[in-house]
Amino acid sequence: MIIQLEKNITEQQFSRLQEKLRAINYKSVKVSTQFSDYIIGVGKKEFDIRAIGTMEGISDIHRVSDAYKLVSRKWKVKQTQIDLGDDVKIGDGAFQIMAGPCSIESEEQIQSTINHLVKNGLRIMRGGVYKPRSSPYSFRGLGIEGLKLWHKYAQEAGLKIITEVMMTEQIDDMIDYVDIFQVGARNAQNFNLLDALGKVDKPVMLKRGISGTIDELLQAAEYIFSNGNERIMLCERGIRSYEKAYRNTLDINAIPILKEKTHLPVIVDPSHGIGVRKFVDSVALAGVMAGADAVIMEVHECPEKAFSDGQQTLDYEQSGTLIERLNKTVAFRKEIGLC
Ligand code: PEP
Ligand code: MN
Repeated sequence: MIIQLEKNITEQQFSRLQEKLRAINYKSVKVSTQFSDYIIGVGKKEFDIRAIGTMEGISDIHRVSDAYKLVSRKWKVKQTQIDLGDDVKIGDGAFQIMAGPCSIESEEQIQSTINHLVKNGLRIMRGGVYKPRSSPYSFRGLGIEGLKLWHKYAQEAGLKIITEVMMTEQIDDMIDYVDIFQVGARNAQNFNLLDALGKVDKPVMLKRGISGTIDELLQAAEYIFSNGNERIMLCERGIRSYEKAYRNTLDINAIPILKEKTHLPVIVDPSHGIGVRKFVDSVALAGVMAGADAVIMEVHECPEKAFSDGQQTLDYEQSGTLIERLNKTVAFRKEIGLC
């Protein structure tokens, strides 16, 4: 059960509510976000929720018995839109393409990528400065100095930054230079990191775990929300299956299913989703037709020379073509009545 409190609920009204919940044997947890205050009530007893809904100081109440609650569509029917400022929005009809290299490598690479993105009308640049790598001997990112340099150029060009945070300890150093924190697939159930990202007022894009279920993804998002941050996006980036013909199995089904289960924006990552450059295009378009609110893709001036994930990275020509096709697909989606 979710109870939304009125902004100006008095202490007395709040105590009366707690008393009522105790009387029906419900455990209650208070959640305060940047937008509102809620009480999550967990219990077994059947009762008429109107008895609480009509109490003073309560603005809304809903029965949500799933393990995830505040991120559920049963709670909020209207789709969430994430506003990054400067007229850059994601979700509820606002479509975005986020592009950039797997890893931020150098000043020249930052400038070259920014020129490509600006030329193609994009507003959000992706890139990793802290890289989770299967082998400890692979390139692991330029770290905070790389992020600061990137931020300087991105600001000049009016681009927003999405980048991965791997550890709780990195958040404070990164926060002034990041527009969206990315939680990588390997950290999808790092509950300490999710707790910590719930305590900051910056959007978070949470990737589905390598072997994570849709339910686990939603519960991970609930960690962030219940710690105080409502600005969350979910990303389908492919899961591990028995199939060996490509890197990951992009679960197209997850997109409409997530859109039905949650009000949060859903993003598709075709680059990691298939892991094969020449098919990124088709998979990205399929993701958009399935209802994705944004695409995040890897782009590099010379993918063969990329420090990481070159095999799934588009060059500028391929990226330009895909951006055009994605924009046409979004228009087509609307034209045929899919939102
Ligand atoms: C990435 O975006 O480069 C990345 C490492 O993604 P994932 O966590 O999905 O593997
Ligand atoms: Mn990558």
